[in-house]
Amino acid sequence: MRRKMAAGNWKMNGTQVSLAELAALQGMAQGTVETLICPPATLIYAAAGLKTGITIGAQDCHSAESGAHTGDLSAGMLADAGAAYVITGHSERRQDHGESDADIAAKTKAAWAAGLKVILCVGESLEQREDGTTLEVLAAQLKGSVPDGSTGGNLVIAYEPIWAIGTGKVPTAQQIGEVHRFLRTELASRFGDDIAGGVRLLYGGSVKASNAAEIFAVPDVDGALVGGASLKASDFMPIVSALNAAPNT
Ligand code: PEP
Repeated sequence: MRRKMAAGNWKMNGTQVSLAELAALQGMAQGTVETLICPPATLIYAAAGLKTGITIGAQDCHSAESGAHTGDLSAGMLADAGAAYVITGHSERRQDHGESDADIAAKTKAAWAAGLKVILCVGESLEQREDGTTLEVLAAQLKGSVPDGSTGGNLVIAYEPIWAIGTGKVPTAQQIGEVHRFLRTELASRFGDDIAGGVRLLYGGSVKASNAAEIFAVPDVDGALVGGASLKASDFMPIVSALNAAPNT
């Protein structure tokens, strides 16, 4: 059975004082849900040192092991700082940093080589959703960015429609279900049913306490990647609780 996952992405938010929010989540590490927070890289070492039971992840990594890449961080450095996961392919990196599917595949492989697990994000724009090309776009992203060698142990996929990120807009349960079923089927046709059945599929985009239960009841939704509502423990905790209470899909 796939272990459910509640992952928080703090993005470029948080300083030392924010570690109090992480400490407040401590009790949430006890349920059946794997709870992960990806703070900015500046806080990874301190966050991991708190030993809250909350898994700590990074938001990006470079694809090289080391070298002349000013300002970048390798997957090995992030693992050394205490990260267990890294997010790759977030739409903000695809857009703001021009990351291609090939870049994301390279980062994912580098993360695995350093012993990190990966949450790899895919998602369509509003224009693509309205054009009816969502599934085509997602299939291409999966093909280009998910490397060979993927397993339920090293890969989590997050479906994050770009138009739902930070906007308060959320796809219908039917739309989320259609995409998650499609992602699972695509993974199965490439990696086989066993591997596809072990890869967790998260939904991301404006998840909050008030919509979490409905989203988590959708078949093939194994959890959420949460941005804004992960910054405060009081916002994130009800989402983790809703996931704990959700049926196994
Ligand atoms: C995200 O950026 O990964 C995200 C899901 O953000 P939000 O929850 O704020 O929409």
